[in-house]
Amino acid sequence: DSVLVQVQNLKMYFQTEGSFSFSKKYIKAVDDVSFNLFKGETFGLVGESGCGKSTLGRTVLGLYKPNAGKVIFEGENIFSLKNKRMKEMRKKMQLIFQDPSASLNPRKTIADILNEPFHIHQVGTMTERKGKIKDLMDRVGLSEYHLSRYPHEMSGGQKQRVGIARALALNPKLIICDEPVSALDVSIQAQVINLLEDLQKEYDLTYLFISHNLSVVHHICNRVGVMYLGKLVETGNHEDIYRNTLHPYAKALISAIPHTDPDNPKDRILLRGDVPSPANPPSGCRFHTRCPERTDLCSHAEPQLKEVFPGHFAACHLC
Ligand code: SF4
Ligand code: MG
Repeated sequence: DSVLVQVQNLKMYFQTEGSFSFSKKYIKAVDDVSFNLFKGETFGLVGESGCGKSTLGRTVLGLYKPNAGKVIFEGENIFSLKNKRMKEMRKKMQLIFQDPSASLNPRKTIADILNEPFHIHQVGTMTERKGKIKDLMDRVGLSEYHLSRYPHEMSGGQKQRVGIARALALNPKLIICDEPVSALDVSIQAQVINLLEDLQKEYDLTYLFISHNLSVVHHICNRVGVMYLGKLVETGNHEDIYRNTLHPYAKALISAIPHTDPDNPKDRILLRGDVPSPANPPSGCRFHTRCPERTDLCSHAEPQLKEVFPGHFAACHLC
C-alpha cells in the first residue's frame, strides 16, 4: 500500500482566552500525533467529543498552523509550501462538515454554492462549469431541479449531498469527513454512508473519517485510530481494533457497541467520570484518572505509542 499522507509529531495548542500573561494556559488539542494515511483507505478517527479529533482533521488540511510537526502530502510538507503551491494543494484536500445547514451559505442557490470552488480556483469556462455541476449533482443523487433551490428548501440529507458534491468538485485525493452523518436522521445516515462508499471507489478517494460513533466507523473504516485528550492511544486495522483491542480506553468504547462480534460478546465496560480538561491533562498516562486497569506507574510515567503487533500500535504500560 502506498502512503498518501504522513502526519508526524503534530502539535496544535490553543491559548485559552482572557488569561493574564502570568497565567497563560494552552489547550493541547492535538499533542504529538503521528500516523499515516494509505491511498484509497478509510481511516476512522474516534473518541469522545473534545478529544481533539476535529482539530486534528483541520490541521491535517492546513487550516490551522500547528505548533510543531509535519503533514507530508504526496511527499511535501504542506506547512512549508508557498501560498501559490498551497492553493494548488488545497484542491486535493477537502472537508465535509458535520452540519450541512451551517456549512452552506443560506443566501446562495445550490448552483452558486457548487460554482464556488471553480470560481475560487479559476477552473473551467462557464459552460464547462455548468456541465461539471450537473454531473456532480447526478453523482450525489440530486436532480438539476435542485440547482435553483436554496439550502433551506432542502432536507438535511439533501444538503449533506450538496456538501459532498462541493467537496468533490475539484477532484480531490483526500476528504476529511468530520462527523458527516451525525446531524442527520438515523434513517438517512445509511444512505449517505453508502454514497460516500460508492464515491470512494469511483474517484479513488482516501477518507479520514472522524466520528464519535464507533458503530458507523465499524461499518465504513479499514483502519482506526482512537484518540483520548489530544493523543492517539491505539491505531490498527479494523480487525485489530475491534477483535484484539489493546488499550483500556478503546476496550471501553468498543464494549459499548452492540453486536460487533456475536461469537465473542463483550461485557460493557463503564467508565467513571468525564474527560478531564485538555488545558490541564492528568500526569503520566492521561487516561489514568478513569482507567479500570491502572497501576502505580500510570500516574507518573507517560506511555508511548508502540507497535505491539505488526501495524497495531497502542500507548499503554500493560501492552
Ligand atoms: Fe490504563 Fe495505565 Fe494503560 Fe494508561 S497506561 S491505559 S492508566 S493501564
Ligand atoms: Mg468535532
